[in-house]
Amino acid sequence: MIDVISYLPARRKSSNSGWISFNAPCCEHNGETRDRRSRGGIKTSDAGWSFHCFNCGYTASFIIGRNLSFKARKLMSWLGVPAEEIERVNLESLRHRNMEGLLSDRQRVSNSLQGIEFEERELPPAAELVTTRHSPHWDYLRSRGVPEDYPVMTVVENDKVHWTRPQVIVPFTYDNRVVGYSCRMLDNRQPKYIHDTQPGYVFGTDLQGSDWRYAIVVEGVFDALSIGGLAVLHAEINDAQVRLIRSLDREVIVVPDQDAAGMKLVDRAVELGWSVSMPDWPDGVKDVNDAVIRWGRVAALITILQARETSRIKIGLRKKQLEKKITRIR
Ligand SMILES: [Zn+2]
Repeated sequence: MIDVISYLPARRKSSNSGWISFNAPCCEHNGETRDRRSRGGIKTSDAGWSFHCFNCGYTASFIIGRNLSFKARKLMSWLGVPAEEIERVNLESLRHRNMEGLLSDRQRVSNSLQGIEFEERELPPAAELVTTRHSPHWDYLRSRGVPEDYPVMTVVENDKVHWTRPQVIVPFTYDNRVVGYSCRMLDNRQPKYIHDTQPGYVFGTDLQGSDWRYAIVVEGVFDALSIGGLAVLHAEINDAQVRLIRSLDREVIVVPDQDAAGMKLVDRAVELGWSVSMPDWPDGVKDVNDAVIRWGRVAALITILQARETSRIKIGLRKKQLEKKITRIR
């Protein structure tokens, strides 16, 4: 019998939604202070289990019939499960492998050969859709130019088990399955963002129209949401992200944030042979989201398309100009 619950600390609490919370064993291994506030959560089902830490962000999951992943093994060892026991669980799991499992493993191999594969993830416990108009969450989303039809979540206020900070949660999807999320905290405390993301993930593929000619690549989730773009989630584009973006088969226009970090993105875009747009926005408008908030989606898009450059030399010149402006503003 594969029963992860028997490995959990004795001090734990179950919520109505099926999550069991306990002091997360992961944080101290991930450069965070030890969890003393029961911020680890695990949910089990007949198919396996899924773990999230709301302190350091560690996640791991396990599906019966499959091998224990590296992250699931680490989690189990942090819970004090001996190595032999972990191996026993793995063997036990593989005994449950059926034909369906073998077929889906094969599909996974083929997807992973293309470098495009993300595991399904759970949203935070107690996450609910933001549907109440003129609530603080609703107003925040509108003020950031998020389309009303994008399903943004929040946590119910009476959930004391996990977070009590006011926040909005943007689900990360790929092929319309949830594969992670980004939380934007609405108080002024740090951290402002907490992401649960997977290597090589690009946000916004499900926002793309099938007949669109361009894919606009930006850094942040809110930039992407407000313009219907793709977010690489930091000021770099890794090779797996490049493969995913190329798989969309359209002209790519990278629109960097107009700050020092954004300039690194320009170099990467040039290296990849992608177009870059660095519109001449006024002070106070430093990224796509600022531009959409100020002028609206269509007008912001026009400034981006007008400033689109494909020539390496012209991109270099524009970048120099912008770098001067950035140092001046600082
Ligand atoms: Zn942790």
